[in-house]
Amino acid sequence: MNCPYCGYYDSKVVDSRDVNEGIRRRRQCLECDSRFTTYERLQPASLFVIKKDERREEFNRGKLLTGIRKACEKRPLPTGSVDKLTDDIEVELYRIGKAEIPSATIGDMVMEGLKSLDYIAYIRFASVYREFTDITALKQAVDTLLSSETEISPSTSQLPLLPTDELEGLARNHRRNRK
Ligand SMILES: [Zn+2]
Repeated sequence: MNCPYCGYYDSKVVDSRDVNEGIRRRRQCLECDSRFTTYERLQPASLFVIKKDERREEFNRGKLLTGIRKACEKRPLPTGSVDKLTDDIEVELYRIGKAEIPSATIGDMVMEGLKSLDYIAYIRFASVYREFTDITALKQAVDTLLSSETEISPSTSQLPLLPTDELEGLARNHRRNRK
């Protein structure tokens, strides 16, 4: 791995630790002394995703990350939480140990993960993934989510409601998608 700052070919490892079934190494360039991080992970046996139309496609971590990132766009989330959710789902998918996984299973895992991370991101993802056909279905999902959060902890009843503009934006998208 060449130094991302000066391109020099050699570096030394200044720290390494296990993360999510991989190894994270902190490196220092031997030429310019810049520090950078590399991740080493085991390449698991290939995993295929069965799409809704029955087509098979090799699992692509980048695609999963992009989907989650899109749902979390501009949300005030701690740095690294999107990557962590992606990692967790990837690890879980390989742990299941099957050669093929329905895309719906992955979608459900993302929804589960987002639900506990950020409810706006969850609704955004759900609105695309579940293909809510109208605003009533969307509102139902929001209500279900808010009431289930209230059950877990009564203090979350102070949660701000879904911002009106966000809800209207989603509704607008759905109207457009239906055409
Ligand atoms: Zn360098």
